[in-house]
Amino acid sequence: MLRSYLARVFPIDVLREIEGSLAEMGRLAGVDLYQLQLADRLNEPRLTQWDAWGNRIDKIELTPLWRVAERIAAEHGVVATAYEQKHGSLSRVHQCALAYLFTPSTDIYSCPLAMTDGAARTLLGSGNQALIDRAVPHLTTRDANEFWTAGQWMTELTGGSDVGLSETVAKPDANGYRLYGRKWFTSAISSQIALTLARPEGNPPGGRGLALFYLETRDEHGRPRNIEINRLKDKLGTRKVPTAELNLVGTPAQLVKGNTDGVRNIAPVLNITRLWNGISAVALMRRGVALASDYAGKRVAFGAPLSEKPLHADTLAGLEAESEAAFQLAFYVAELTGQSETHEISEDAASLLRLLTPVMKLTTGKQAVMVASEVLECFGGAGYVEDTGLPVLLRDSQVLPIWEGTTNVLALDTLRAIDSGDSLRPFQLVVTRCLETARDHDLADAVRVARTSLDHATSWLVEARSAGQPALEAGARRFALTLGRTMELALLIKHAQWSHDHEQDRQSTAAARRFAQSGVDLIF
Ligand SMILES: Cc1cc2nc3c(=O)[nH]c(=O)nc-3n(C[C@H](O)[C@H](O)[C@H](O)COP(=O)(O)OP(=O)(O)OC[C@H]3O[C@@H](n4cnc5c(N)ncnc54)[C@H](O)[C@@H]3O)c2cc1C
Repeated sequence: MLRSYLARVFPIDVLREIEGSLAEMGRLAGVDLYQLQLADRLNEPRLTQWDAWGNRIDKIELTPLWRVAERIAAEHGVVATAYEQKHGSLSRVHQCALAYLFTPSTDIYSCPLAMTDGAARTLLGSGNQALIDRAVPHLTTRDANEFWTAGQWMTELTGGSDVGLSETVAKPDANGYRLYGRKWFTSAISSQIALTLARPEGNPPGGRGLALFYLETRDEHGRPRNIEINRLKDKLGTRKVPTAELNLVGTPAQLVKGNTDGVRNIAPVLNITRLWNGISAVALMRRGVALASDYAGKRVAFGAPLSEKPLHADTLAGLEAESEAAFQLAFYVAELTGQSETHEISEDAASLLRLLTPVMKLTTGKQAVMVASEVLECFGGAGYVEDTGLPVLLRDSQVLPIWEGTTNVLALDTLRAIDSGDSLRPFQLVVTRCLETARDHDLADAVRVARTSLDHATSWLVEARSAGQPALEAGARRFALTLGRTMELALLIKHAQWSHDHEQDRQSTAAARRFAQSGVDLIF
């Protein structure tokens, strides 16, 4: 799937240049990191709050897998590739391909990398030269000794979705500000820096009154800078990620960009972390489908391998179709993100990116959970047993619809994107163009499904708007998922036709046909 997609999107000479880096990452993910991941299964990060002499140290120890993952991520440019921009806008796609290969074997080390990437993008766009000079070289380096990761501290007890309720206060001092407050979810607390929200004293309530701050978590001796880590969360999944609850007790911090509009100013972080969320979703789906397909050839039941049982083969085909469709959408958003970063994006494509970022994140997050759950069932009882290494796929996937904006919150954001930028028009245009490429008769039914669901989504929006805000909000999730699945089907059809023409491969055609039967229009 990845090879075929890259062959379609990259010019052949560029593909030759990047192939080595991807092959090496594939080897690491399939052999070294995978072995380490299995060996690391029972390890978890540890917080030590006090030393033997009663001093507060709040030391975090990562697991061996995460320590190796950090080095490999830096050296192989899993963040840096997007900033080196050796291949213009396609550098972002190259980077996402590296992340896609790296993710399934590194137990959500993608979390700190996503936030690091988001912080680099945000600082670069902030115009704050002092912070750019201080932090961006560390965030985008390939030197593991110089590499920094970043956290993103938004969620407080008062809310993760409604961050305008944040209670953290920023008081000015001679060197900038000091922050006082309580952050309720801070992932990858081992990071060297964080971007966070706080309300400068005297600012009004709500999101506008918050400001975006930069802080460095530890001093030159490795001690937290006026940060108390109360505990690490005991979570369903992402258990290698040290997610802390903490108090800011006069933490030194610098304004990133102005002393208001923090929620708006942190949005670039979220655009990047949502892209990573989608890439992680397709990466975890791919790992699950690959394992389930392999097992189906080995497990014998009722006289034949499961792969020869029509119903089991149909189950696997459904999973394959979901993961291919999700892959096409996530990487399409990577393409648009790359164009935006290199300023090669048209106005229409920019508003499409604004719409597709939440749509892609919410659609692929839901697919990842569904696929992981079904993958476990494909293994029967073994899928439920920890030492197969399978249950973690489901646990880790379950976070994807929750963090970086829940499904409902992003569905409402989808409506805002349409209202603010007329982005449904470029959406319709891209879907239509994809469908027009299909000449293969076998794709005709799938094309019809995509057209019908696009028309239904468009007419639903008109009706819901005239019915009023409650009806619009109540249907927003079904609407956004329908947009996501329609775009996935359209992109998959386009890829299937290309693959048929250029590779004589019918795999994507089969996936498109199957996906079209799997519920694309979810509006009722
Ligand atoms: C493992 C993990 C790690 C995390 N790491 C971080 C981190 O590093 N930094 C950080 O800032 N946060 C982090 N979070 C927090 C995460 O981003 C929030 O939990 C998430 O944004 C939801 O916020 P909440 O928990 O306050 O839920 P709420 O906002 O209270 O939402 C509860 C439910 O209400 C729904 N809802 C909310 N508003 C509406 C509405 N208007 N209409 C319809 N439905 C609505 C939501 O969809 C959700 O289902 C992490 C969470 C997890 C699980």
